[in-house]
Amino acid sequence: MTYDLIILGAGAAGTAAAQLSVKKGLRTALLDPNPVGGVCLHTGCIPAKVCLQSYDPNPASLDARRKSVIETLEAGLRMRLTGVEIFREKGTLCGRTDVFAVRCGERTLYARGVLLASGSVPRSGGLSPEDIFTASELPDDAVILGGGAAGLETASYLRRAGRNVTVLEAGDRLLPQAEPEVSASLLRSLKRKGISVRFGVSVPPETGTVVYATGRKMVTQGLGLETVGLSEVRTNARMETPVRGLYAAGDVTGENCTAHAAIREAECAVRNFCGETDTVDYSCIPHVLFTDPQTAWVGRTEETARADGFVVKTAVVALKSVGGYLAAGADGTGVCKLVADADGTILGVHGCGGAAAEWIAAGVVLVQERINARDAAKMCFAHPTVSEALREAARMLTD
Ligand SMILES: Cc1cc2nc3c(=O)[nH]c(=O)nc-3n(C[C@H](O)[C@H](O)[C@H](O)COP(=O)(O)OP(=O)(O)OC[C@H]3O[C@@H](n4cnc5c(N)ncnc54)[C@H](O)[C@@H]3O)c2cc1C
Repeated sequence: MTYDLIILGAGAAGTAAAQLSVKKGLRTALLDPNPVGGVCLHTGCIPAKVCLQSYDPNPASLDARRKSVIETLEAGLRMRLTGVEIFREKGTLCGRTDVFAVRCGERTLYARGVLLASGSVPRSGGLSPEDIFTASELPDDAVILGGGAAGLETASYLRRAGRNVTVLEAGDRLLPQAEPEVSASLLRSLKRKGISVRFGVSVPPETGTVVYATGRKMVTQGLGLETVGLSEVRTNARMETPVRGLYAAGDVTGENCTAHAAIREAECAVRNFCGETDTVDYSCIPHVLFTDPQTAWVGRTEETARADGFVVKTAVVALKSVGGYLAAGADGTGVCKLVADADGTILGVHGCGGAAAEWIAAGVVLVQERINARDAAKMCFAHPTVSEALREAARMLTD
């Protein structure tokens, strides 16, 4: 059977690519031995957010809610995949002449283009954050190895469920890619909630429950890369690999490892395959933690902006001065920071507190559209909301 595009993997990247591909009129095959939706839907983002955002102390009803949310979303996704030919099989590249050949169970499929969207798996073989967010029973005490997004979300969930939690972080602060003010604000909040954090430790204890939040490994084995002359998955900003017609998107690229980046990359790949021009700008992709409190940022930090040669101006707003933040019962440690160049163009938006995962959307617009703080200061954000901190920080940069 011959297609325009064959997609290996039906996670966030593969399903986003398949939907756009069909919309563009391409004959599209989507291969995955597992149910559509991948890690995000079945064991990652969605179960984690059910646990964190609609926490229910009754394990049976939490379990039922998790299942029902996943089923509803999977049904919606299946509908949106109408027109895509789905194979419940693993796909393996097996060479290229004029077209690519892909082994799919007993069949061989052919296509002008192939998108690799095979995702990632936990680097360690031990208990992972995915295991915790899909478990019916939680350990009484847990040590979490790794103070990144997955480790801190796991810690927030276990603590909310009344468990004793210690986070071990190899570095000397949480979230080394974040602004120091943001890391410090999150640390203060986590400690107030009773989570213990130890720095400079990378070896777990020999006894007790250890959750390994030590990163992910890209799934490249079994893709048949060697049959098209590749030894690894590497992409440019158009999501092209060095082999013409072969694209990659999502965690398998090792670039950003979030579902929203996977979707952006996948759609970019399809557009370029169709002859349009699109590139992914990673400096406009937000980083979001659904910790308690939420933490998010987009764009450059003060340090990376200076390293890129900008003369930098910053403004920091303590969220305890923001009505919408305190009125919602927050603990007063939150912060919002804007980074701008000498002319006031906003380069980065960073924050911890309130629904940061939501209000960072305004930050994405400010950074991607290169809005000047002078103009942002004249925008009107609703009162009383945490978003008002963005306008206040912009005003501080200009007045
Ligand atoms: C606990 C946890 C919480 C998370 N929370 C968030 C969050 O809040 N927000 C966010 O943006 N991201 C979050 N993430 C990250 C997000 O889940 C991933 O970035 C996203 O799932 C990546 O999508 P993907 O399509 O690249 O890969 P995956 O979802 O891993 O899908 C890859 C698919 O490819 C299939 N596959 C593998 N090899 C083959 C092959 N040879 N042929 C065919 N199919 C194959 C697999 O079966 C799998 O279904 C979280 C992750 C975890 C673990």
